[in-house]
Amino acid sequence: MRIGINCGHTVSGQPGCGAVGRIDESVETRSVGKELIKIFEAKGHAVYDCTNDYASSTSENLATIVAMAERQPLDLFVSIHFNAGGGKGTEVYTYGGKAFDEAVNVCKGLAALGFRNRGVKDGSSLYVVRRTSARAMLIEVCFVDTDDAEKYRSIGYRRVAEAIYAAITNDTAAIPASASGNSADTAVIVNELKSLGILSNTDLWIRYCGKDSNIYWFCRKLRDYAYAKEKGETAESEYGEINDIAWDLNYRGVISDMMLWEKYMRNDTNVYWLLRKGLHWCRTH
Ligand SMILES: [Zn+2]
Repeated sequence: MRIGINCGHTVSGQPGCGAVGRIDESVETRSVGKELIKIFEAKGHAVYDCTNDYASSTSENLATIVAMAERQPLDLFVSIHFNAGGGKGTEVYTYGGKAFDEAVNVCKGLAALGFRNRGVKDGSSLYVVRRTSARAMLIEVCFVDTDDAEKYRSIGYRRVAEAIYAAITNDTAAIPASASGNSADTAVIVNELKSLGILSNTDLWIRYCGKDSNIYWFCRKLRDYAYAKEKGETAESEYGEINDIAWDLNYRGVISDMMLWEKYMRNDTNVYWLLRKGLHWCRTH
């Protein structure tokens, strides 16, 4: 299949960026979309990344996306988005609301993960649906500003991407490990977290890290944060280390936009989220 995949919007904080609620649309469209690209590539499909990170306006972002999609003939164009405005569930927009198999199956596949199925809707007014020559669908995975966000976090972007892949292709065979970005240093990180007294059951955590790269990422960040604290340094002051971390995470396919993540790592919000989530996870698992 020749597929064009667009991680919706520009990167966070830029003109044309996505909605921000309990999660950040621009960040999550990239987590899901880049993972989806990796899965399609690992399965031998021709994938065209139609993502535009920086634009001067929303309309420039949309025009750039469509231009990228139109550079080659495609069997399908998929734009990944997250909804906002207080609702729950998944919906897929197509031209004229046409309920073609891939669109219907994406709704069903994401509903099977626990999101409400809001169905296939008319996306004729959406620029990237209207202006692309290929069959197109815009997926609103879930809402960024309701309980959907927590549901999405616990499911993880990888399972969302895998569900979208299976829905589009009807291929339910296992995703090759090379697509998942698993790391050989998981055991090292988990054992370090144990030595820091942050967790105790290393077998359990190694298993979790292998299953979900969000958790791997979290363990890695927590380890680095804890070490920085032990040394009496703040994570924010470790600019060199932040560069290294961003590069490494990018290399492993956990993140796609290094500049964006470096910026996040330099402010405390992310670290706060990390610690809050970590505490919650430790208490409930
Ligand atoms: Zn959007």
